[in-house]
Amino acid sequence: MSGFRAPACGSLRTADVGREVELYGWVSRRRDHGGLIFVDLRDRWGTVQVVFNPTAAPEAHRIAESLRAEYVVRVRGAVERRPRGSENPGLATGEVEVLARELEVLSPSKALPFPVEGEQEVDEAVRLRYRYLDLRRPRMQRILELRHRVNKVTHAYFDEHGFWEVETPLLTRATPEGARDFLVPSRLHPGRFYALPQSPQQMKQLLMVAGVQRYYQIARCLRDEDLRADRAAEFTQLDLEMSFCEEEDVFEVVEGWIGRLWREILDVELPRPWPRLSMEEALLRYGTDKPDLRYGLEIADLGPALAGTRVQVFRAALDAGGVVRGLAVPGGRTMARRELDDLVALARGAGGGGLAWLPGGPLDKFLSEAEQAGIRRLTGAGPDDLVLIAADRRRRAETVMGLVRQEVARRRGLVCEGQWRFVWIYPMFLFEEDAEGNLTYGHHPFTRPFEEDLPLIDERPYEVRAHAYDVVCNGYELASGSLRIYDRAMQERVFEILGLDRQTIQSRFGPLLEAFEYGVPPHGGIAPGLDRIVMLLAGTDNIRDVIAFPKTQSMVDLMMDAPGEVDEAQLRELHIRVEPPARGERGRAR
Ligand code: ASP
Repeated sequence: MSGFRAPACGSLRTADVGREVELYGWVSRRRDHGGLIFVDLRDRWGTVQVVFNPTAAPEAHRIAESLRAEYVVRVRGAVERRPRGSENPGLATGEVEVLARELEVLSPSKALPFPVEGEQEVDEAVRLRYRYLDLRRPRMQRILELRHRVNKVTHAYFDEHGFWEVETPLLTRATPEGARDFLVPSRLHPGRFYALPQSPQQMKQLLMVAGVQRYYQIARCLRDEDLRADRAAEFTQLDLEMSFCEEEDVFEVVEGWIGRLWREILDVELPRPWPRLSMEEALLRYGTDKPDLRYGLEIADLGPALAGTRVQVFRAALDAGGVVRGLAVPGGRTMARRELDDLVALARGAGGGGLAWLPGGPLDKFLSEAEQAGIRRLTGAGPDDLVLIAADRRRRAETVMGLVRQEVARRRGLVCEGQWRFVWIYPMFLFEEDAEGNLTYGHHPFTRPFEEDLPLIDERPYEVRAHAYDVVCNGYELASGSLRIYDRAMQERVFEILGLDRQTIQSRFGPLLEAFEYGVPPHGGIAPGLDRIVMLLAGTDNIRDVIAFPKTQSMVDLMMDAPGEVDEAQLRELHIRVEPPARGERGRAR
């Protein structure tokens, strides 16, 4: 019998008692019990106990003495009911065992760098170096399976909704998504480079021009990002694009798909429709564009209570066009000084000037009765509550309060675990300030502005709203999307506002602009991050757990030792000469 067709170790039940079976798998444990040898034999479907008896099968028993963890073996024997009292209710096959007649070692194993058995914590670098062993562990096998099921549900769902999966190229031109491109040198065209896609954005828009109307793809995206804990350089999106659609259509398709995943995988019915928050409101009330709605702790604008204040820090912030924001910590009046100091340090770490608090803080005596009452009213603070306050430039005050809100919730155990709080952030702004204070795009340069905000585009660009939306759940950003510009002149105008000159526009986006002259359906889409979604479904907070062969945060594949060096000859063929960075210059991250 071929091992491929043999019954799975994990499939045997009492109904199989009396059957002669041939099993293939890995030795997960061996126990010698005065003559009898017990082996737990594991395959992808589970584990079954195999018994070697020296009298009944001396040859098999002799070989069994040499078995070590992770040997791959073939066993032939009869399925029997386990003797009364020795059943294992913790094991699906726990009522039976296989009495071995024959044993063959197909492949031995060296001593392992860490046990495959059990749920033991293992250093991640070691797990990644021996990823093929790490993936054998039952927990990782469950995640691999879960991910497979996510893909399967996804294909079924989009097929039912009339979407076609279309593959787009990996070797292509740059499409900006706010990161650096990975480049691939062309051998046949010396001095020219392909860019690996940061996303299939331009291609999917071109597919709409091509009349595909509904496109999806489980697409790999590659972004040469600086090291950030929550980002991977290589990740997978569920990429979508639809013609003749409005926001509502995108929302419905995505809610339906996520709803289906949660139902089929977690057996959880998510309420619909999901709530919506404008970006402005999210920043005001939660201090972030990815709010965790599993707890309240809403932030309030204290401006109205402080219009005539003489308190120096507040006055200065307000006069400079900034804001004063605060939130009430339930029962926080008794907060320990240590905790307060930690929160102040957190605020300072985010670039803020610190935090004020009320009551019991240094500002109590400077704030009038009316101001204090106003602050309590705006934050909804009760007699036992503490109000934490930040005064700063608007963006910074939001960031500080957002972090404080999150930290207070974490420390005080206010996060309701087991809840799924999905929310649409919509609308968002067309432009943002980058780290250097320059104007840049909020989502990407193809996003359609609100028609009625267009008069502001030159004078007050930051106020222009966009048909752009994010999906956020429990503080994670899961998807970003937008309706797109489909008019050449408008697209060129946005590129110009972003500071691109004619030549750059032509060389980077010429084909898309040209396509826009041949009848373009209005279109829009979104791209949920599949890795993050699987992460939530799998209940892990480590994105590398849900990627079969992930890289470390410094973008090294520890198993394959990539990036690696290449031969001189290969480089010559590619017309490339390497100049290693001088000492002190930024080079390889170790
Ligand atoms: N291409 C976008 C992204 O990767 C998603 C979209 O606009 O559909 O974020």
